[in-house]
Amino acid sequence: MEDSSSRGPAATKPDWPGGAACVVCVTVHMDGPAVEVGRRQVPLGIHSRGRYSIRRGIPRHLEILARHNVPATFFMCGYDAEIVPGLMREVHTAGHEIAAHGYVHEGWDLGAEEPELLERTHRILSDCVGEAPVGWCSPSGRKSALTLPVLRQLGYVYDASEKDDDVPYLATIDGAVSEEMVILPNNTVSLDDVPAYREGQALAEEVLENWIQELHAIHRGAGYLHLTYHPRSGFGSGGPARASIVDRFLCQAAAVPGLRFMTLRDLAAHCLADPGAWRR
Ligand SMILES: [Zn+2]
Repeated sequence: MEDSSSRGPAATKPDWPGGAACVVCVTVHMDGPAVEVGRRQVPLGIHSRGRYSIRRGIPRHLEILARHNVPATFFMCGYDAEIVPGLMREVHTAGHEIAAHGYVHEGWDLGAEEPELLERTHRILSDCVGEAPVGWCSPSGRKSALTLPVLRQLGYVYDASEKDDDVPYLATIDGAVSEEMVILPNNTVSLDDVPAYREGQALAEEVLENWIQELHAIHRGAGYLHLTYHPRSGFGSGGPARASIVDRFLCQAAAVPGLRFMTLRDLAAHCLADPGAWRR
């Protein structure tokens, strides 16, 4: 008989694409100099960690993702696309999804300015890579009552900002459940490098161990793994040791039976093809 003592409450496994047992969505938050510029810092010296993302982190992670043949979702700020449009196009040409992440990573209350900022970033990213983004993740997790209605008007089909479920679910927009937009939760604090490296000062090996534990628990359970990392220096995974554990994680994940890597855009399309299955 199978031992279920370590499983916790039974999780219902949704219908994943191709009958997969587990989907893994790798999301890369570029967080280039836009972060420092948004904080009104000059992106030099101690404030140059976003520039590491441009110079070293993204090229390093593009090589790792290519070697594992993993398509990822890159959340990009409009400001970063303005200063390094060629790098954005390189990410897009490599087959990754470009999604929106604010203009200067604005993680503060935007008030009436919010629609214009969402539209500006949308226009910049669209013009830069020749394809409109359909996904958004809030910088720092901030949202307002305006956010989803404006994104939906711009054609977005998913939001990856919520932390409140194990699996995707239909978004509520202006008080009504929408069959045109899905929430793809970014739910697992230990599957984000920032808390570990900034607040916990963890070793890369410890972070890998945590990610592998999450992988196996999620694979046994609902089967939705949303990994978030940042190719910056400082709090991110841009440098060699931390990038190498992303590499090792992808290697171990690829060996798990029934696992499927996919972009958030492709997962959103899967959910919205049968919206009734994702209604709460
Ligand atoms: Zn960010």
